[in-house]
Amino acid sequence: MSSLRVGGFVPLTTIDFPGRLAAVVFCQGCPWRCSYCHNPQLIPAGAEAERPWQAVLDFLERRRGLLDGVVFSGGEPTLQAALPQALREVRALGFETALHTAGMYPDRLAALLPLLDWVGLDIKGPAEHYDAITATPGSASAAQRSLELLLASSVDHECRTTWHAGLFGRDELDRLGAGLAQRGVRRWKVQACRVEG
Ligand code: SF4
Repeated sequence: MSSLRVGGFVPLTTIDFPGRLAAVVFCQGCPWRCSYCHNPQLIPAGAEAERPWQAVLDFLERRRGLLDGVVFSGGEPTLQAALPQALREVRALGFETALHTAGMYPDRLAALLPLLDWVGLDIKGPAEHYDAITATPGSASAAQRSLELLLASSVDHECRTTWHAGLFGRDELDRLGAGLAQRGVRRWKVQACRVEG
């Protein structure tokens, strides 16, 4: 059995896995430090699990036939070596699988793609702003490589960008979208950065 560290769990979502009724598993841990992170409690990789992975599997067993899929979100799910096995276990129960990722581990993403039905890939911004947004040197090249891998795959996907004028300009956002479209991205979601707090 997988030893995935679970930082949170939502039993039903209609918006995180397009066209599916799904549960969301929030995976503990992320090496990046985006100032606007919406789940900062999920950043410490060593934090105590909110619930055991087996409890998630037990819940999913009872939801067979009622839910279509399971979303692995975070934190950064690809941080955890246990993710591939967790995906296999969820698929073995008959569920489709989705991943939310910032694309920081392209090699791991490549290995996961055969186990996925849908991917939501964060594009943090234009390459020259990545290091400032993520507080992590070299983060842009990893995300760009993950985008290439996703576009070359047959896995359904969308790109998502969180935007605030304090991060980069509106004109840069427009150019980012045009560049993604040019590379073959067909769905790009822009979400407003929440600044309260
Ligand atoms: S990559 Fe996502 S989970 Fe990690 S710090 Fe940034 S917003 Fe938070």
